Parts: sequence; structure tokens; C-alpha cells
Amino acid sequence: MQMLDGALVEPDAAGCCAGVGGSGPGGYQPCASAPTTSGLIYVAATDEALHAFTCDRHAVVLRLPRPLTDDDLDELARRASAGRRARSPS
Ligand SMILES: [Zn+2]
Repeated sequence: MQMLDGALVEPDAAGCCAGVGGSGPGGYQPCASAPTTSGLIYVAATDEALHAFTCDRHAVVLRLPRPLTDDDLDELARRASAGRRARSPS
């Protein structure tokens, strides 16, 4: 979880990385819209640029935004399956 210009974002999310105000942990609730854009989230605290995705509405949080490629779709699928594994008991 990162703060970006006062907004909560989750660069590792398997979908739109932008948080919407809500009742989730820390007030963060992931945006439920389908991701359409790929780009970078710059984290000033660690001086890193992280690969992230957003929906159309949240593309403004990305640097170098571009439409999703086949590689991006593979990455989204990988993140989704990694998230499912992490949540299921072994
Ligand atoms: Zn969004």
C-alpha cells in the first residue's frame, strides 16, 4: 500500500490499483473496475517505479500510461492466481 498524492494505491493489485474510500483495512478498498491501462507508480519514499494497472477512470495516477498488452494480461492473471494461493489455506 502506498500513498500517492494523497490517494491510496496498491501497485501489486491484480486489477485497478487505485483505492476508493471505504470500509476496508486502513480505509482502503480496491477499485472494482476492470483494468484497461498499464503504467508506472512512482514511490518517492523508496525511489522506485512499480508496474501497476488501472481502470479508465484512475489512469491519471499512472506515469507513462498505455493500453494493456498481451504481456500485461498475463501479468494480471499471474497476480490474480498468486493472490488466490496466498489467501487459501495450505
Ligand atoms: Zn479504478
